[in-house]
Amino acid sequence: MADQLAADGQLDQVFGRIEDQRDALVALTQELIRIPTVNPPGDAYRPCAELIGERLRKQGFAVEYLRAEGALGDSERYPRTNVVARFEGRRPGQTVHFNGHIDVVEAGNGWTFDPFAATLTDNRVYGRGACDMKGGLAAAIIAVEALLQSGIPLAGALEISGTVDEESGGYAGVAWLAERGYFSRPRVDHVIIPEPLNVDRVCLGHRGVWWAEVETLGRIAHGSMPFLGVSAIRNMGLFLELVERELYPALDKRKTSMPVEPAGARSSTLNFNSLHGGQAEGFDGLPSPCVADSCRLVLDRRFLIEEELDEVREEVRSLLERLRAEVPGFDYRLRELWSVLPTMTDKEAPVVRALDQEIRRVLGKEPQLIASPGTYDQKHIARIGHLHDCVAYGPGVLDLAHQPDEWVDVDDMVASAKVMAAAALRLTDTRP
Ligand SMILES: [Zn+2]
Repeated sequence: MADQLAADGQLDQVFGRIEDQRDALVALTQELIRIPTVNPPGDAYRPCAELIGERLRKQGFAVEYLRAEGALGDSERYPRTNVVARFEGRRPGQTVHFNGHIDVVEAGNGWTFDPFAATLTDNRVYGRGACDMKGGLAAAIIAVEALLQSGIPLAGALEISGTVDEESGGYAGVAWLAERGYFSRPRVDHVIIPEPLNVDRVCLGHRGVWWAEVETLGRIAHGSMPFLGVSAIRNMGLFLELVERELYPALDKRKTSMPVEPAGARSSTLNFNSLHGGQAEGFDGLPSPCVADSCRLVLDRRFLIEEELDEVREEVRSLLERLRAEVPGFDYRLRELWSVLPTMTDKEAPVVRALDQEIRRVLGKEPQLIASPGTYDQKHIARIGHLHDCVAYGPGVLDLAHQPDEWVDVDDMVASAKVMAAAALRLTDTRP
């Protein structure tokens, strides 16, 4: 249908309408940024959800506010309020859902702009969340409004959601909604998440995550006679040395077929998030002389679609077991903190094909199909909603996410809004 509409000139009309809404798109992005939905703790979710919901209600959407009561992080002080808006077309067809998270990470240091003033300068909007991902959410809203106002008889349905807590795992946001059927067929067929993956790239999925805490154990003794105790810190040193010598080179060699960007993340990676041994820090005065009986290390292992989570776990455990067998006094505990399986949408999936074609049409260049080094809400849609026609596509520049002086380019927002509108037209009008 999109091609037919292009031939009829109707698509140009939609595109023209989006261009006319350029100032409105900037204003909406600014309004969203000026509500400081910082997570943690999860501030101001309700007013931000209402800004989106009340705007769409005026356009004829049915709007629901869904508080994830009792979910991780939800409280009276910090209610986890999501918004889901749905517009029914006039003909049978499929549902396209645009999902944006409304939370942002803390501003941090190093800003030259006020992070919540949403300054417009040099064709860019600056502010926390401009790129990740209030600019993308605003572009999706303008895209859908342009479709509604175009007078084209729409098929299927269009949905927009603003969801919470993506930056902290999405459990009170997309996961909570997915558990209640909001991201499953027959309600929804295609999902586009306007995360900042660059205006000419479609993100098919992400690598897996395994977070674990390794604790080496020792025996306390007087620090002047360390030979009478067992040092958990020295034991941790042995583990770190083994990881350095054997695990890192092995991980570097493992390459994925996933088109992860940046390319450095096409191998398995491992980060040490934190390390602490012996007495607690942050007291005044001198410490007492003790041999450390505990040392804790938090591992952040990102794994590839070619790897199994069990193998990822066993690889670390086997190093620890070897030390236990070989080193007198070596003992440890291994505690899993969090895991996410890798997810990848098929390159031939309808949502990928539709975005691919419309990026070519709007931007006149060949889109890049990529995967993300880090995880985002797509995992919940795939695993809980069992919906696999889902990708991330949005106007922000990936490298700017979470940085000081984060910005989104206004031309990119306009272009991505056109791509999203045309892709939604194409997808809603396909028969199951
Ligand atoms: Zn994001």
